[in-house]
Amino acid sequence: MTNVPDIISVPSSVIAQLPDPPKDRVERGDLTPGLLATGVWTDEMVTAAGIPIVDVAFVTVGGGVGSFVLANHLRIAGVSAESIKVLTNIDTPWQTYEYLTRVSQIPRQERLRSDSTGMPDCLWAWPSYALREARAEKTIAPIWNVLAEPNWLDYWTPRAGTVFDGMARESARFGWERMLAKGQVRMVRKRQGGGYFTILTPPPGAAPTKRIAYRSQFVHLAVGYPGLKFLPDLQEYRQKYGDRDRVVNAYEPHEHVYESLQRKPSIVLVRGGGIVASRVLQRLMEDRWNHGAQTQIVHLFRTYVSGKNNKYGPAQRKGGDGFAYQGFNWPKGAWGGQLRDKFDSLEGKDRADLYKALGGAHTPKRKLWQQQMGRARTEGWYQTFQGEVTEVRPSATPGKVATVIQSKSGLTSVLEADVIIDCTGLEADLRENRLLSDLLEHAGGGRNPLGRLDVERTFEVRGTRNGNARMYASGAATLGGYYAGVDSFLGLQYAAFRIADDIAETGFCPKLGTGRSLSQWWKWFRHRSI
Ligand SMILES: Cc1cc2nc3c(=O)[nH]c(=O)nc-3n(C[C@H](O)[C@H](O)[C@H](O)COP(=O)(O)OP(=O)(O)OC[C@H]3O[C@@H](n4cnc5c(N)ncnc54)[C@H](O)[C@@H]3O)c2cc1C
Repeated sequence: MTNVPDIISVPSSVIAQLPDPPKDRVERGDLTPGLLATGVWTDEMVTAAGIPIVDVAFVTVGGGVGSFVLANHLRIAGVSAESIKVLTNIDTPWQTYEYLTRVSQIPRQERLRSDSTGMPDCLWAWPSYALREARAEKTIAPIWNVLAEPNWLDYWTPRAGTVFDGMARESARFGWERMLAKGQVRMVRKRQGGGYFTILTPPPGAAPTKRIAYRSQFVHLAVGYPGLKFLPDLQEYRQKYGDRDRVVNAYEPHEHVYESLQRKPSIVLVRGGGIVASRVLQRLMEDRWNHGAQTQIVHLFRTYVSGKNNKYGPAQRKGGDGFAYQGFNWPKGAWGGQLRDKFDSLEGKDRADLYKALGGAHTPKRKLWQQQMGRARTEGWYQTFQGEVTEVRPSATPGKVATVIQSKSGLTSVLEADVIIDCTGLEADLRENRLLSDLLEHAGGGRNPLGRLDVERTFEVRGTRNGNARMYASGAATLGGYYAGVDSFLGLQYAAFRIADDIAETGFCPKLGTGRSLSQWWKWFRHRSI
């Protein structure tokens, strides 16, 4: 690293072995008011605060799927494990993703939404997950499915467990564990003279000081979703009545709901028309058929889709029974076709308008879900409603919650339910993540036309460059930029390609060329370490 002199260079492996500090020094090594208030730090300021400095060329913050694919790409391109530090609060790179999929009703054996175009454990995406499954289970069914989709069969997608197992295998191959430093990242600040300081708060007792400063030339932020976005009316209900049992979000643990539904006949109100609503409906319906639950389902759509919707040029999305149908979370061309070029060419409001035209809640039209909903309708315990919610309050009937809705025609009705499952949102404002909030306030980060973190086409965070040092971001926090599919495996891999190429242009590492790519694929195929 050219721009960052060695003042105190403490390898991270040594830090964990330092003896505990004497009691009178416990508060040493914490952020001072001076550091908190200053945007650009000198080495002396950090040293004076007693915060140990660890030098490393590249830091990635988050340690989830986004960090994993970029670290993997850099290692394959030739960067050593010693030059990369992953600052993270999780033990495995799929931990947060597995948590979110599990609570939203995609346990390991269930299939994900995306296909094999994005494979976090294999940047070449070949052999595909379908080939792997065919080989492991000695069946040609996945291959036949891929050939016959989407006209005769639904899109084939891998089981969640297949993706996690692949990542576990690849982690061991490229030395993921060697790069980890556990803790919560508090902030990234520019360093006077070039580079950045990334401040990590290690778990209590894991280090002799409260904070550690990682001084690096490159920083990558892949911190996932800033938080849970609860619908304002449900948030208000929970706060006002202190009731967190009857009103739950699909992304928080709510197994108690399904357990209680199996014990007692109840009415459940499901809100939302996206894929999470489809999964929750599947669980509720299967619990009725397989476990004797007597649940009545009331499904509320804010926008009820009864036919074609969201027109873009000659293309139009199909819909029915309230849902808008789409196989993947963007039209396929947004990842690598003409829509990718379109997003890439637009600025400001024009780009925001394109997001709006292609956005909205939607779900894949899967045959199983169609059959299940058809049967539920015939048996008379699944009903749909359209309406804008005006109020959620305790009902006059003890133990029930009343949802007041106003339909498009202006009619007001009240829906009573024992439980409400909110399947509408996960993403919250950037400010909900302390690190991103600090970035906006002190390190030069800004917002894009959708209000998320503004990044260049190379995924460099606009406004944060510092000398020859660069800061990048990928994942959900950057939605609204020049590439729509950022919050997907393929999008994270696309971002990793762009970032690795951009880093290579600074001369830090070689660009991944055809020869090395082929030889590295051969190593990957034979599971040889890098
Ligand atoms: C239910 C669900 C299903 C999905 N299904 C698919 C699918 O089928 N196909 C697909 O391609 N994509 C899918 N996605 C989207 C996406 O691929 C995943 O969400 C993926 O995990 C995103 O990776 P990430 O690195 O951005 O975030 P994560 O994997 O969530 O990792 C970010 C990590 O950063 C940590 N972090 C945040 N702030 C800090 C901090 N200050 N210090 C330290 N650590 C911090 C977080 O705790 C988290 O562990 C799905 C998403 C969800 C929610």
